[in-house]
Amino acid sequence: MDEVAYQMNLLKAMNQQLKQENNMYARLVETSNNAFLYYSFQDKLFRTMGNWEHFFDVPVNSKKELSRVFDTVREEYVQPLKEAIGLENKGLTYTSQEFCKKDGSLWGECEVTMSYHQDGSPAEETIRFRDITKFKAQNDNLTYMAYYDMLTGLYNRNYFVQELTKWLQRAEKENMIVSVVFIDINDFKKINDGMGILVGDELIQVFGQYLSEFAEDENIICAHFNADVYCMAVYDPFGKRNVGYLYQTIHERIKKPFMLSTGPISVDVNVGVAEYPEASTSALELINYAEIIMFRSKKDSTSNIRYFDAPLIKEFRENAAIEHKLKHAVPEKEFVLYYQPQYEAGTGRLRGVEALIRWVNEDGTVISPSQFIPIAEKNHTIISIGEWVLEKAVSTIAKWKQEYGAPIIMSINVSAVQYRQEGFVHQLMKLLRKYQVDPSEIELEITETVLIEDFDLILQKMKYLKRHGIKIAIDDFGTGYSSLSYLKGLPVHTVKIDKSFVDTVVQDKASRILVEAIIQMVSRLGYHTIAEGVEQKEQYDYLKQIGCEYIQGFLLGEPFSEQQMTTLLKEQTVFA
Ligand code: C2E
Ligand code: CA
Ligand code: CA
Repeated sequence: MDEVAYQMNLLKAMNQQLKQENNMYARLVETSNNAFLYYSFQDKLFRTMGNWEHFFDVPVNSKKELSRVFDTVREEYVQPLKEAIGLENKGLTYTSQEFCKKDGSLWGECEVTMSYHQDGSPAEETIRFRDITKFKAQNDNLTYMAYYDMLTGLYNRNYFVQELTKWLQRAEKENMIVSVVFIDINDFKKINDGMGILVGDELIQVFGQYLSEFAEDENIICAHFNADVYCMAVYDPFGKRNVGYLYQTIHERIKKPFMLSTGPISVDVNVGVAEYPEASTSALELINYAEIIMFRSKKDSTSNIRYFDAPLIKEFRENAAIEHKLKHAVPEKEFVLYYQPQYEAGTGRLRGVEALIRWVNEDGTVISPSQFIPIAEKNHTIISIGEWVLEKAVSTIAKWKQEYGAPIIMSINVSAVQYRQEGFVHQLMKLLRKYQVDPSEIELEITETVLIEDFDLILQKMKYLKRHGIKIAIDDFGTGYSSLSYLKGLPVHTVKIDKSFVDTVVQDKASRILVEAIIQMVSRLGYHTIAEGVEQKEQYDYLKQIGCEYIQGFLLGEPFSEQQMTTLLKEQTVFA
């Protein structure tokens, strides 16, 4: 083969290979979803390739026609896109820019690559257009979910806290007030349970929409926290943004029902308000306080709106601390029983003692039972505390009887929660056997609240206790629902007349009439009477005169420690 022929064959082969490669690139470009734009600065060669129609429904064949592309995108992207595509010397090798079609149907991104000659003049520009609509939508949903509540379209809690924090920073600089307004729909659970979750959801939505109208004021933001709980923040709450005024507006609106697809529904709300900087300077704390205050407004029915109140928050904090400590309290170590004597009014003979619990904290501070017992009842720690009290009281009376032979009664306070416990009676009987205590030496003090629920069951227990010789006293008589008529059928042994009557019995004629009537009727029904909280001699004398059998109070003796009691028992003091 001569030289020429050889060269010819080689060229052919190279040509063939080039063609193949060209084809391959063309196919790649065509089958990808992307579009490309190629521009050569030197020979002004302009070409579009790939899936161009997917992005732009206008053909673009020259640099001049590029303006057609810009005509199809949203206004805010025109300039940035022009700058990115430009087809001029930008001095960059790579840049990218997002854009959105005017009708919102497509989000795209263009990636621009430039190459330069050695002298710095631009050589070629390649642009790739990518469809990022899907990615954008996902991203938007995520952003949306991160900031807004899906059900109502209001801010969610996180975003609200974020924005509130910003407002507080601003308020600090501008010396302004920010109100946090916590709103809760009353009895929402009833609606949800009674009418179904769908109705509940719709109500949350509709009410949320109503609240969102307030947020049209740029100084008000509105959030839906969860279920029936909403929260607003008001920057500079004056004039029409005054919280009282906002509440009035809401209050007026909810006088009329909200229309749901299932029909009209009426709602009532409770509102708690805490303001920066008075209540706190922290966003989370403000929200927290507003919530506590809201709960308080729910509790007392005087008004459905309540404002921050420092003593209330203090009380709440203390109670929360007590609740926490109670859970970890060890009865044998931290609780002690004190004993307050009860005397017979006529003879001054010691009738018995009432066991009163004291909680001594590690640091030596004593917490009063009126403070912790209600909390212990709520979190049910009263069960173990009550068990401890029972055993301590029963074992103590056993010891006293053995050592001093004192024929006295041990009165034990029993909380309603404890009394209703299934094994309560059994547990008490077991203790009496264990310490060999005569049931007649034990009196259980219960309040009328015990009788409210499960009357029959409670009555059964009372009857059982009575059959076994255990005494039952109605504590704080006259403060609750007590009517003398219900006493009639109860296997009660003693009625304790509440201190509030004793307090006024000397000065107040009406309370004298009442106390006299109570004592007379109670005695005629065959029950014994004890007056509690007797502090003055005049009270004692008067009560004795009208036939009150027993007296208990600071006048005769404050609650004594076990040690003090032994002295008293040794001396077998008679009060005269
Ligand atoms: P309570 O059963 O009505 O007990 C009488 C309370 O009045 C006692 O308060 C007693 O110290 C106080 N007191 C007695 N005489 C006078 C007086 O002359 N003047 C004044 N100002 N107060 C007097 P305490 O010990 O603080 O107990 C408060 C409440 O805590 C009790 O009221 C009772 O409801 C409850 N509690 C006490 N110990 C126990 C217990 O072991 N178990 C249960 N479940 N509750 C208990
Ligand atoms: Ca009592
Ligand atoms: Ca009492």
